[in-house]
Amino acid sequence: MSTRIDGKVISSQVLEEVKKDAAEFYQQFGIKPGLAVVLVGEDPASQVYVRNKTARATESGLNSIEYRLPEDTSEQTLNLLIEKLNNAPDVHGILVQLPLPDHLDEEKLIAAIAPEKDVDGFHPVNVGALSLGKKSLVPCTPQGCMIMLEKTLGDLSGKHAVVVGRSNIVGKPMASLLLKANCTVTVIHSRTTNPKQLSQQADILVAAVGSPEMIGKDWVKPGCTVIDVGINVIEREGKRKLVGDVNYAEVEPLVNAITPVPGGVGPMTIACLMRNTLIAARQQH
Ligand code: NDP
Repeated sequence: MSTRIDGKVISSQVLEEVKKDAAEFYQQFGIKPGLAVVLVGEDPASQVYVRNKTARATESGLNSIEYRLPEDTSEQTLNLLIEKLNNAPDVHGILVQLPLPDHLDEEKLIAAIAPEKDVDGFHPVNVGALSLGKKSLVPCTPQGCMIMLEKTLGDLSGKHAVVVGRSNIVGKPMASLLLKANCTVTVIHSRTTNPKQLSQQADILVAAVGSPEMIGKDWVKPGCTVIDVGINVIEREGKRKLVGDVNYAEVEPLVNAITPVPGGVGPMTIACLMRNTLIAARQQH
């Protein structure tokens, strides 16, 4: 029997810790750690994410400030808001919900956020610090995966970790964090010629591809630990269903431990956003 790595349980432990630390922060400085969430446009999925983020922030004792801007917001208007938030002493974390409408340049916008308030960990300064193995604000999803791995396996030193996917928001920072934890790291991407052969060598397998149930039993070594980052909506037996990048039914009987979808990495991402806001607030005081 494999262990089900329960993201709901672990994320509520992280959030409890944030709540306790936020209360201490308030006692010490007379101000709550502040998170500004900026949403441009009406994308329904983004609206749900933003609602969830602000709700979790409030529950965790953070001061959450939401900015909703119309779809046709100009780059100049958005930059002015970012500048205002960069200079606001009661705002410790700034999150701009992605994707942005097509006329806005995401890279430019991320670079405009003050690195010490970049709670998504996407600013080039934070990306650079992570790849140098230095202290930085780390992207929330890979950070959540690391917390789950360390809770499940303890010390990760010497393990062979295989990351499937090399995006800037998941795959690459995940590989950097695993390397920092002294794993031997292999990254698989769409041009890798022998992906299954490589992933069969993994003690830790992280799937961040965006391809429903692509990772089947022929990708895993028996006894390995699997983190499934993928969130894919599929249609099965006439119903909409959420599945990961891993074929859970096929892989689960073979492995030591595995995250489910939903209820695995998803809740950890939001919990780590709150954790990052607290870290940012502490660094700014
Ligand atoms: P991207 O589309 O940005 O990246 C996907 C990566 O997978 C790319 O590096 C791509 O390679 C690689 N890839 C695609 N097809 C294959 C293949 N057949 N074999 C090997 N590698 C392949 O996705 P993201 O990293 O943003 O997201 C990945 C998944 O994680 C998605 O399902 C997303 O919804 C989910 N997600 C979940 C989060 C959560 O909170 N749980 C947060 C963020 C994302 P190449 O670079 O060569 O194109």
